[in-house]
Amino acid sequence: MYMAEPIERLVRPALWRGWRRRCPNCGAGPMLRGYLKVRDTCAVCHEELHHHRADDGPAYLTILIVGHLMAPVILWAFATFRPDPLVLASIFSVGCVGLSLYLLPRLKGLMVALQWAKKMHGFGAKG
Ligand SMILES: [Zn+2]
Repeated sequence: MYMAEPIERLVRPALWRGWRRRCPNCGAGPMLRGYLKVRDTCAVCHEELHHHRADDGPAYLTILIVGHLMAPVILWAFATFRPDPLVLASIFSVGCVGLSLYLLPRLKGLMVALQWAKKMHGFGAKG
């Protein structure tokens, strides 16, 4: 039985489109509806996006990045400026929440785009 060679999907452009929360296939349609909900299909190219299995991955990556950025910066800020602990905690709480809210949807887009590019979880299946 003859089977056509599947078309290669480029990972880097897909990841960049996912980071921008765009459809990994066309880069034009929005991937997310609301803050984190992935659309079932792209509004522009009708690529199916419901195959994704991002699960806890974006949250894990967000915690990993924010934790590794904030922990040394807190230590540096405390050692350098010796601020009042309440001031330090207030500033870094706002910083951690803000950075997490910024990163979470972008990392979700990145993970969905990676799964799309690698044809994981039914993304590459026809029919
Ligand atoms: Zn699209």
